[in-house]
Amino acid sequence: MNIKSVPKNNILVVDDNPKNVQYISMILTNNGYNVAIANNGEKALRYVEKRKPDLILLDIMMPELSGFEVCETLKRNSSTQEIPIIFLTAKTDVDDIVKAFEVGGVDYITKPFNPKEIIVRIKTHIELKKSKETIEQQKKSLEELNESLEKKVLDRTNELLQAKDKAEEMNRLKSNFLTNMSHELRTPLVAILGASQILSMDLESSKNGEWASMIYKSGKRLMETLNLILDLSKIEAKKIELKYVKVSLNSLIAESVKLFEPLAASKNIFIKAEYNSGNLIIIIDERLIVEVLNNIINNAVKFTEVGGVTVSLFLTNESIIIRVTDTGIGIPEDKLNEIFEEFRQVSEGTNRTFEGTGLGLTITKRFVELMGGKIFVESKYNQGSSFSVHLPIRYLLNEGEINEAKVHPNQFGSIRVENKQRTKPHLLIVDDDENTIAIINKFLSEYFFLNFAKNGEDALVKAGDKKYNAVLVDINLGRGINGLDVVNYLKNQKGFKKLPLIALTSYAMEGDKEGFLSKGFTHYIAKPFDGIELVKFINDAIKEY
Ligand code: ADP
Repeated sequence: MNIKSVPKNNILVVDDNPKNVQYISMILTNNGYNVAIANNGEKALRYVEKRKPDLILLDIMMPELSGFEVCETLKRNSSTQEIPIIFLTAKTDVDDIVKAFEVGGVDYITKPFNPKEIIVRIKTHIELKKSKETIEQQKKSLEELNESLEKKVLDRTNELLQAKDKAEEMNRLKSNFLTNMSHELRTPLVAILGASQILSMDLESSKNGEWASMIYKSGKRLMETLNLILDLSKIEAKKIELKYVKVSLNSLIAESVKLFEPLAASKNIFIKAEYNSGNLIIIIDERLIVEVLNNIINNAVKFTEVGGVTVSLFLTNESIIIRVTDTGIGIPEDKLNEIFEEFRQVSEGTNRTFEGTGLGLTITKRFVELMGGKIFVESKYNQGSSFSVHLPIRYLLNEGEINEAKVHPNQFGSIRVENKQRTKPHLLIVDDDENTIAIINKFLSEYFFLNFAKNGEDALVKAGDKKYNAVLVDINLGRGINGLDVVNYLKNQKGFKKLPLIALTSYAMEGDKEGFLSKGFTHYIAKPFDGIELVKFINDAIKEY
């Protein structure tokens, strides 16, 4: 060890007896300590004011200031109270020893002095003091570290809170935007779809009929895209609630296949269903499974030019499997995972060869997962693809449970409107959009007597005109009172208490329907609507009441 590198400790020896001082100084110096001397209490205090020794050897019995008084003075002062003081005493008087400790001494040494004892005690107390200082230093560093950590945590928490506020604000804006978009897109679609449907029915055989059907198909496509985007936003907002019902999976597949038969026929390809396990009655969210089927079959037909599409249904021990196999263009291996991501398409950018949003499979996969299932794809480029949806076997009902399974009418065939009664029901229709009024008039006037109100106030006046069989109310009626206010008023009026009060609205986000039904409406139908279905819907509502 390099001795020079260790700083010497300074000891102040305070004693009025020169012999003692000399003796102790010699012992200390011989043992490597620096020694300072004070021969009375006053001098000791003055010395300590200027320099802080590492330890003080303090005689008790001194004229004027005693050792106890010196010690008490030093202990009162915060800058000197930590200096260890060892009392030097000729006495072995217990009271003195007790007092020595009471005033703040750390130890005592009795005269005559034993050099070894002096050194051992000094060494012990200096080390103790150093350890104490080290601990204090570490405590201080820990406190500083703690403070800086606390500050960092606080800063980070504030940042996170701000980010959270921002995200929530963005989410609110996004929600508002989607609600507005949905509303704004649906309203003109009433006219686009309605007018073109009317035209194409009227002009079936002429060229103009083709134009009209073109508008109708494009409008429908716009509507499907809108619904896809809304579906995705609902999934993201975790707002989809599953509604389980009993259905025949075979019927659902048959309906989907039927839906795409015209498109397949127009492309000269086949589409067929194969049922390998009898009639499977399952409990499932019907809307979700229908959307999944339609999305996959739609893609299969869209991406197949030669051959066709086969939808097969079969069971394994763990799963109910629906497989849609096509003989179409196939998917390159490196794209097989990408196609389930939002907006991803095999041919992207301005060169893309097929139309579409790139959302269909994203939604399909999420719907399948929401139902507890999995979706798999196998494909050979230029040979065809096969999409398999595996649903948990627990959805399958046993023989005994299937009695009341819902039998599906073919909802895609033309729906005959039975209601051409001798006395047509009277409807009050409250809507501020001219185009919607014109379309409703065209669709409904054959089956109902119609009375129109173009705003809320007008509705309240016209409500008193005659006896109605049902009231159809738009929610947003421009300025003045809105559709909810109208219904709130009507539902308490004589003659309206037992009437269908139907919300006919472009507010068609998740939860809107339930919201309107809880606020006084008895029925709800979203815009845009299909004319024929609207007639049926109103008739059913009137019959119910
Ligand atoms: P979209 O069909 O609207 O583009 P999807 O999410 O439904 O969006 O599909 C994403 C992409 O996956 C499609 O653009 C297409 O490149 C590819 N794809 C999906 N199904 C098939 C299929 N049956 N055959 C070939 N490619 C397919």
